[in-house]
Amino acid sequence: MYDVIVVGAGPAGLTAGLYAGRAGLSVLILEQMYPGGQITRTHMVDNYPGFPEGVEGIDLAMRFKDQAEKHGAIIETAQVTGYDLFGTEKKIVTAGEIYKAKTAVLAMGASYRELGIDSERKLVGSGVSYCATCDGAFFKGKDVAIIGGGDTAVEDALYLTAFVQRVYVVHRRDELRAQKALQKAAFQNEKISFVWDSEVEAILGDVKVEGIRIRNKKTADTQTIDVSGVFVAVGSIPHTKEVSEFLDTDEMGYIVTDDAMRTNLPGVFAAGDIVSKSLRQVVTAAADGAVAIYNAQNYLRENE
Ligand code: NAP
Repeated sequence: MYDVIVVGAGPAGLTAGLYAGRAGLSVLILEQMYPGGQITRTHMVDNYPGFPEGVEGIDLAMRFKDQAEKHGAIIETAQVTGYDLFGTEKKIVTAGEIYKAKTAVLAMGASYRELGIDSERKLVGSGVSYCATCDGAFFKGKDVAIIGGGDTAVEDALYLTAFVQRVYVVHRRDELRAQKALQKAAFQNEKISFVWDSEVEAILGDVKVEGIRIRNKKTADTQTIDVSGVFVAVGSIPHTKEVSEFLDTDEMGYIVTDDAMRTNLPGVFAAGDIVSKSLRQVVTAAADGAVAIYNAQNYLRENE
């Protein structure tokens, strides 16, 4: 039986692995794909401290992985299919095995919701981004589009005005979902233009984004807007399907924790993008992983 099983090997899970290993705990990290999580899809991470020149997403992911393994974390590729986390012995089920641990850290992350058009997938990392705070600075002086009308879209639009020449906010309705204070700030910002009632039909460009073709839902008219970047901000989907029946989640499906990263089940912690919180970044994910292990240690001490 392990002291800790971590599910998910993104920045939160790998940091949990590092901290657990360094604390002398036996720790297994289960990952269904490859280590690194969403940063492996980001070309350059410019906002993780310690890398003044920026660091490639893949490179940062490998550094997280190597450091966790160096300190004793075992990483296995396995898809978790079930959980029994109620008792003092936590059971995590995969296709081939039932793993047991005294504590569990859930760090399965979330996926950005995609528009679901072919040209979007093709141009991810070549002008299509799901994270304005990660990639905005690459579009200095350019025109960009943001797709969506929620808090993220409008907040990102405001954030991007620090770098870009013009931001087109393309929304499928004629009214924003975002909170009024954000709306007011965006309407007053001369760098932001709104394109209402419109859906993106295609993102244009062969090797990098050159524009978008949009269709007005009311008139069926199509038009092309020349932009160098497309920020998709149409919500995200937490990977909580298998745990939402027994863990407290917020109205968006993210796991609710206290500030010690404890869930409603004793000995079960959550960390990273899967958690209900205000800022989902590599740095906050890593911090969650460290906090979760610190408190898992306290839990182990109290229960042994
Ligand atoms: P969201 O609130 O779910 O908004 C998603 C937006 O994308 C909506 O405007 C929606 O349109 C649009 N959309 C959804 N699917 C689409 C599609 N397939 N094609 C085109 N448009 C699509 O997501 P979010 O903005 O990421 O916010 C998520 C949560 O985090 C919210 O609870 C939000 O309040 C919170 N948040 C808070 C802050 C803050 O307080 N500062 C900042 C960011 C996020 P419709 O409006 O027509 O549905």
